[in-house]
Amino acid sequence: MAEPCIFCKIARGEVPAQMIVNNKEIVAFRDLNPQAPVHILIVPKKHVASLDDANDSDLLGRMMVLAAALARQEKIARSGYRTVVNTGRDGGQSVDHLHIHLLGGRPFTWPPG
Ligand code: AMP
Repeated sequence: MAEPCIFCKIARGEVPAQMIVNNKEIVAFRDLNPQAPVHILIVPKKHVASLDDANDSDLLGRMMVLAAALARQEKIARSGYRTVVNTGRDGGQSVDHLHIHLLGGRPFTWPPG
């Protein structure tokens, strides 16, 4: 049966997205509902439901290194940026496929809402 997950569909090219990176294991694309001038999602192609299900530390590391590289590419590294992994209900996760948000281009406050 076809995988219903929206990020799996984007990773397979079945649903359009503003794709920035598409390598053998990771895709990065612009968020449909951006919360900052730069809002990119970094997503493993393999379906992993959340950080709670993630066990590939090498892949997680490569996702973080890619986030930093994209921040430089998007010219937000100097001003600063935020990386976020929402996990589960209280974490505010709405798509059950692991992803890192890369947000920048404006200041963020702390603590988060
Ligand atoms: P989260 O709440 O951490 O699970 O974040 C999911 C993010 O995915 C939200 O910021 C949504 O705006 C974004 N999103 C959902 N569907 C799409 C889509 N088809 N293309 C791009 N971004 C999406």
